[in-house]
Amino acid sequence: MKIALVGIGKIALDQHVPALRVSPDWELAATVSRNGSVDGVEAWRDLDAMLAARSDIRVISLCVPPVPRFDLAAKALQAGRYVMLEKPPGATLSECATLQAMAQSARLGVFATWHSREAAMVAPAKAWLAGKTVTSGRITWREDVRKWHPGQDWVFDAGGMGVFDPGINALSILTEILPCTVHLRAATLEVPQNRQMPIAAQLDFTNNISAEFDWRQTGPQTWSITLETDQGTLELHDGGARMLLNGAPCNEPHNALSGEYPRLYQRMAQLVRAGESDMDIRPLTLVADAFMTGTRVSVDPFHF
Ligand code: NAP
Repeated sequence: MKIALVGIGKIALDQHVPALRVSPDWELAATVSRNGSVDGVEAWRDLDAMLAARSDIRVISLCVPPVPRFDLAAKALQAGRYVMLEKPPGATLSECATLQAMAQSARLGVFATWHSREAAMVAPAKAWLAGKTVTSGRITWREDVRKWHPGQDWVFDAGGMGVFDPGINALSILTEILPCTVHLRAATLEVPQNRQMPIAAQLDFTNNISAEFDWRQTGPQTWSITLETDQGTLELHDGGARMLLNGAPCNEPHNALSGEYPRLYQRMAQLVRAGESDMDIRPLTLVADAFMTGTRVSVDPFHF
């Protein structure tokens, strides 16, 4: 099937293009980007023009930041195309609901991707937790924003989500693997004096689960979830690539991102063939709750 990528920036080039190149399901038939392009692929600067000219392209994969994404997704659905959304699926919850309703009424599909859910040990973690009672948990998501988002000011602008841009990856894993639902009890958001969005956050959920997100970590990066249950301890490290049960390693370390995007595109192919959507907004709901109820603390200015 032919697919077009919109927003040729960091994640499109790092992950989407390599995943599409090796996919048996997809042919990258066009790109739409004001500045970016991919060698050997037809390049457009305007989505409307591409949609009008290329009726053979059935699926549009959007890799732009969350704020500009809704208008592009709506145009693609109105033009009769299936839509794949980078995470987070929208800048707001109601945008996501609108896209889902549009897809349903047009008998199309929209896929809210959560790449971290495709990490190697997320499915085994979910299987191990099934039927157990989670008594407490600790999420630690500490990384260096300068390394992962070099110069990307949009992450600190309104709608950019700040440290929840990576933190939502942890929440996407948590909501996938837990055998129960959780909700937020309290949050603290640390916002640099010169920015709109938090650079760090601490969250307390039900089931004694807490989370610490911090974008100021230099040196080793930490993406870990530890859950205590009535039948032992589960640890996920390296963003879900590595699992320990009661302290014993269950697998060899993997490259944290390897396999995530190929699996997302495999799933998108299934959705198109079945004519279905997959729009789980639970991770974004938890983030919205943090913004609604969180205590805001002003911290040192941040410059890239
Ligand atoms: P990015 O490189 O800053 O942006 C991607 C591209 O989107 C840009 O190159 C730009 O292309 C286009 N764009 C930027 N702002 C735009 C605007 N206001 N209107 C229209 N187009 C705009 O961002 P990214 O890091 O790839 O992230 C994109 C999405 O992927 C985000 O939702 C992010 O959370 C997610 N993601 C990122 C990473 C990562 O490691 N960076 C990992 C996983 C997921 P043109 O200027 O050529 O139009």
